[in-house]
Amino acid sequence: MKNRFLAQFMPIAVAEDTVLHIKMQNTDIPGEFVAKGKVQLEAGWKLIEGIDAKETILPAVKKGDVLPLIKSEINEVERKPPKPHTEKTLLKVMETCGKKYEEKEEEQMMMAILSGFSIGTPATRAETIKKLKDAGYIKAKGKSLSCTDLGKILVETFPARELFDLEYTGRLEKTLSDIERKKFTKDDFLAMIEQFVIESVDKIKNDKVFGGPVTLEPLHTEPAGICPECGAPVVETARAFGCSGWKKGCKFAIWKDDRFITSLGKKVSYEMVKILLEHGKVGFRGCVSKRGNKFSAYFYYEKDEKTGRYNWRLEFIDTNPPQA
Ligand SMILES: [Zn+2]
Repeated sequence: MKNRFLAQFMPIAVAEDTVLHIKMQNTDIPGEFVAKGKVQLEAGWKLIEGIDAKETILPAVKKGDVLPLIKSEINEVERKPPKPHTEKTLLKVMETCGKKYEEKEEEQMMMAILSGFSIGTPATRAETIKKLKDAGYIKAKGKSLSCTDLGKILVETFPARELFDLEYTGRLEKTLSDIERKKFTKDDFLAMIEQFVIESVDKIKNDKVFGGPVTLEPLHTEPAGICPECGAPVVETARAFGCSGWKKGCKFAIWKDDRFITSLGKKVSYEMVKILLEHGKVGFRGCVSKRGNKFSAYFYYEKDEKTGRYNWRLEFIDTNPPQA
């Protein structure tokens, strides 16, 4: 209290905000040391109050001064690479459009555009991650998510670069908000999107990696069997064996990229589906479990009456019966 009282009768303190750039003499080591702080010119009232400990006080030096090195010390700092995303952290990043990573100025400009916007909605974000997993672009190990080789190839080579561009996404979101505020019309927006889609498809078509004729294995024209749901023929398509009664609402399908089947080292083939639909089960030899054990089993494709969905069920075949 006494000091504070006396200080008000003292002259003002004068300091210079200073940045010192210090270079080592006679060495090839590149770079320089930088020190930021204040040079105290007139202590003024600070004589009484004592110098604020928060300030870094630098010595008064002149440009070109050569100073002795009193002490030097090297601290080793290890920096681990950032941990892989988990579903939770990835959702967060999508929600904030990566706001955490605003190292560059350019990105700060982005944040201004994006403020209040995010990738997807709470309802679609988790679904997006699931789709990436199902398509094989990312994989989960424990809780950690990582990009697969397929995902890396896609990111590195996909021709329509705008789709990976946060700024482009941001601009679209911004335009949507402009429509809300009647600064932009729906028709202009749709025309813009149409233009973009046409250009992108052209780019993809003419791309060395993604373009060119699509080679698909010829599909079987004969139905693979009869739909257990509605009795209509089950036909082969590029991605599935599906009920031809889909137009009437039948959803029965056996997907070719079924992850359960492929995880056992097997494929959903025409022959397999044919046997399955005829006999209600199909036997597979040489399935490989996650632990690498080989086994044989009957596969059933059964409906869960509660959810209405079909799931695979296994019945192991004991190929090594105990010796009698
Ligand atoms: Zn059907």
